[in-house]
Amino acid sequence: MDNYYGPGRNHLFVPGPVNIPEQVLRAMNRNNEDYRSPAIPAMTKVLLEDVKKIFKTITGTPFLIPTTGTGAWESALTNTLSPGDRIVSFLIGQFSLLWIDQMQRLNFNVDVIESDWGAGANLEVLGSKLAADTGHTIKAICIVHNETATGVTNNLAAVRKLLDHYQHPALFLVDGVSSICALDFRMDEWGVDVALTGSQKALSLPTGMGIVCASPKALEASKTSKSVRVFFDWKDYLKFYKMGTFWPYTPSIQLLYGLREALDLLFEEGLDNVIERHSRLAKATRLAVEAWGLKNCTQKEEWFSDTVTALQLLGCLAGVEMILKDVGYPVKLGSGVAAACAFLQNSIPMIPSRI
Ligand code: PLP
Repeated sequence: MDNYYGPGRNHLFVPGPVNIPEQVLRAMNRNNEDYRSPAIPAMTKVLLEDVKKIFKTITGTPFLIPTTGTGAWESALTNTLSPGDRIVSFLIGQFSLLWIDQMQRLNFNVDVIESDWGAGANLEVLGSKLAADTGHTIKAICIVHNETATGVTNNLAAVRKLLDHYQHPALFLVDGVSSICALDFRMDEWGVDVALTGSQKALSLPTGMGIVCASPKALEASKTSKSVRVFFDWKDYLKFYKMGTFWPYTPSIQLLYGLREALDLLFEEGLDNVIERHSRLAKATRLAVEAWGLKNCTQKEEWFSDTVTALQLLGCLAGVEMILKDVGYPVKLGSGVAAACAFLQNSIPMIPSRI
């Protein structure tokens, strides 16, 4: 058999799905359970409260939906908007392109602001659109926080500042699929109305859970939005939340136990420490890329992503060097690894020995 995974731990060096920690794998190794028994609602209640912490929200309402990031997009759009609504969205890479395609296929009127791939969202153009929109025809601003395809992180605080500056009531919808839990994300502080992520990214779970969080304003919008929705209707979730049973349909028991463990691991390390770890590894990776004489796809430092380059790092960089050599790039083997090592050695304090 060609191209098979060998025995033992096979590491993944892609920006998601990511490696699943052993503790999470073990926590998921369970039989199915009756989700109508008292245990699962009790567990879900705490999970929903804890999930709010990864969005940094007090006022948001989270939904754990059996879906992927793409389904979470659809949940955000169809619950808050009506067909024909004008959405301003940024096209900066493959995932923003796919989200825009979904918006168009759902019959929204998408006003696209395009940038070169490798650049961030053009906020100057957004500013002029908001300034001109005195009649408030723009119903939502949609943005991918971290464009996984190009390694660009957008400045969400700046988007909120513009909305506030023009006192514009548009909803602010954010794809946080490759950012939430790994990059600084502040739902309440940045006035985000719907934030979403997928389980297989920074939560380090298997694929299959879309995590969507709605602000009170987004929940209000869902009461009048006319988009057709059934499976993704927040109303069904809210009905079951009220009853205390939590699930309108069957959840994956294994994913719930996995989520519990993943959140415990995050809180044990500290969310801010996790973010700092990604930042440090990303910096080391960029130094390696620089030492190889290659250009980062991301055009300016202000947009550098700390997740898309963050890996298990040194072994992967060595592999990249060998591949570069294979394809004829004149790389000096070890040069990038050395640059990353030098940075990491100087930035991580030595653990003192016992004696
Ligand atoms: N948004 C971003 C930023 C992504 O990176 C991805 C997937 O990699 C998606 C959305 C789509 O998520 P999924 O493949 O889980 O549907």
